[in-house]
Amino acid sequence: MHLLTPTSFSASLHRVNLRTARGEAEEERGSRRVARAAERHDDCSSVRVVRALRLVVGLGAALLPATAAAGGVSVAHPLHDLVERERGPQRFLDRANMVPKTLFTKDEASALDCEHATHDIRLDPMSGETTATLELRVRADGRALSSIGFTVDEGLSVAMVTADGRTATVTEQMYTPSRIVRIDLSPALPAGQTTTVRIAYGGTLSCGAYPENGGVACTKGKNFSYFAHQSVFPYLFDPDSPYGGTLDALTRDIVLRVPAGTDVVATGERVADSFEADGSRVSTWSIDKPLSRTLGLYAFAGKLGLKSVPGRAVPTTLVFPAPEQDVDQRLASWSSPVLDFVERSAGGPLPFQRGLSLVRLPSDVGDPGTATFGMTLLSESYTRVGDLMHEETWAHENSHLFWGIVVPETDSNESRLMSEGMATLTEIDYSFSRHFSGEDRDLYLARRFVPIGLDLRTVGGSLPAIQIAPGMTLPDGFRTQLYTLWAYYKTSATLDHLRATIGDDVFTKGLEEYIARCSFVGCRPDDLREVLEHVSGRDLGPFFARWVTGTSRPEVKVAFEPIGDTGAEVVLTKQDDLPMTLELWLRLEDGTLVKRRVDLGPKTTRVHLDAPGRVRSVATSPRHDVLVDARSALAGDLDFDGETDGFDVLRCTRLVGKKYESKGAVGLWNAEETFDPRCDLDGDFDIDDDDIERLAETFGTLRSEK
Ligand SMILES: [Zn+2]
Repeated sequence: MHLLTPTSFSASLHRVNLRTARGEAEEERGSRRVARAAERHDDCSSVRVVRALRLVVGLGAALLPATAAAGGVSVAHPLHDLVERERGPQRFLDRANMVPKTLFTKDEASALDCEHATHDIRLDPMSGETTATLELRVRADGRALSSIGFTVDEGLSVAMVTADGRTATVTEQMYTPSRIVRIDLSPALPAGQTTTVRIAYGGTLSCGAYPENGGVACTKGKNFSYFAHQSVFPYLFDPDSPYGGTLDALTRDIVLRVPAGTDVVATGERVADSFEADGSRVSTWSIDKPLSRTLGLYAFAGKLGLKSVPGRAVPTTLVFPAPEQDVDQRLASWSSPVLDFVERSAGGPLPFQRGLSLVRLPSDVGDPGTATFGMTLLSESYTRVGDLMHEETWAHENSHLFWGIVVPETDSNESRLMSEGMATLTEIDYSFSRHFSGEDRDLYLARRFVPIGLDLRTVGGSLPAIQIAPGMTLPDGFRTQLYTLWAYYKTSATLDHLRATIGDDVFTKGLEEYIARCSFVGCRPDDLREVLEHVSGRDLGPFFARWVTGTSRPEVKVAFEPIGDTGAEVVLTKQDDLPMTLELWLRLEDGTLVKRRVDLGPKTTRVHLDAPGRVRSVATSPRHDVLVDARSALAGDLDFDGETDGFDVLRCTRLVGKKYESKGAVGLWNAEETFDPRCDLDGDFDIDDDDIERLAETFGTLRSEK
């Protein structure tokens, strides 16, 4: 058996805590939720982190403005909660300690292929009384399938399980507040065959809290009662591969039967509402395209706040705990521009044409938010990060309707490039279009990626590549913010650098092709490379080798000689022979900016670039800075004009005193966008007098007039 007895489970949890007090590697496993409230910089503070595990009694508490523990930096940004939630409910299986690491492996894909689920759930949201059936059609993928697992609220017990053509044996284990159920099929389902499993379950929901973090999977007895995956909806998993990241997507029909006068909203598109003889509401929802079995299923029931979102052709409803508050007005007003932007940047409409539900979650459920089929959810806790970031996070979550829901990744343990990476890129682009369109777009994008670039060089220095090789584990064993940096920031930084490399218009065309190829079937980073190669006509193998399957921060030196009023001879030098393409910015004496894309071949590339005037400086696009260390060939020449003069020194003297300190890899939320790494000559992330002295040593090299 893979499942532990309750006694051995709590013993193992205890062991995890003991190890937590000692070992770096285990810290996140034991106290992942707590690291937000008490970040630490050294091993000796880890005991305090463990103690905090007991003090933080609810996710809601963790979402309140946190004060840093003594000597620690607060990382209680709601982002980290969101990251945790976006990793999917299988994170909760951590508790059962089934598989210690999230390993990417291409060989041991799960045999469990869920095809279709029919849920019929009679639920009294006030009392939590539930009677339900699940009819699940499964296929054995690649090899024989001998078991199916699911978790539900511990108050719901399994009344009966049958499987067509075979015996189904049920084993249950309790891990308060969940019940983990294993169904063994005898004989095992042969590879390629399908069977239908019927499960009847019911009882009274406990809606208890997870002991390690206080989170809940449901609330009951409220006007806004919340029922997430693992409460009334069984969370399906493969007992042989509970952390497997290979996409297994299924369609679903959901019928919810609630008492007369109860409002209900569920995941999916609303199909019909009807009434039984006693007035009970029968609400039918459809997930008619395959949705990953790890993505959230939700039902909200009671006396819900419901508000129609203006400006959308598809009926779009904001769902919230009544009474309506100012934040609901803001969310409603942001939704139409956000959804329009998301569709525009993906090149077509979202496939949820019957309806879309947007949910403001109360902070007391401790669910920071996520996106799922035709439904976006975000905790009201985000009001505390300010309107700008709240709106941007709303854009992030809604963009997941494409990036992760409609267009899933083949294996979430391999890469988050086209889910979290695209969602993060979209949120940055959205804020530009809504609030910063008066700025130069390239400079805006470069500025937004400054903290990310610095985080990648400091705390993220040893992160694995964006696309993890088979046999490697996710950056998960130590600190959650490293996962954030890997899944959200390294990916979005690479995508923007890629756009700057091949051109934004080409990239956008490639995305449309990617969506056409990958919708509801899942794709890998190689698919992105292929569609971009198709639309650009370029070999992107070197780019992907350098920045997607590999990690690099190449140094490129730029030198140039102006050629009269006709352009410049440019020499670009790097240390390897791997091709690379960069956009160069030529500034002319009259201030005109000329942008030219240049292919770098071997170590030294010489190229003549035409320009309509005398060239004053040649630099790389600042959007490359996040992943390329571009310098003038002349030391101390910070403005790339081939001279070291007062302008270079002035550029840095006004930054003296600036230090870069990672705020726990919250990247985008880190306001330090003014730190200029080129002024940090000694590379200690502190711009001080030493740097200015070194800069002054090179002062006075002027270009000889020709
Ligand atoms: Zn996300």
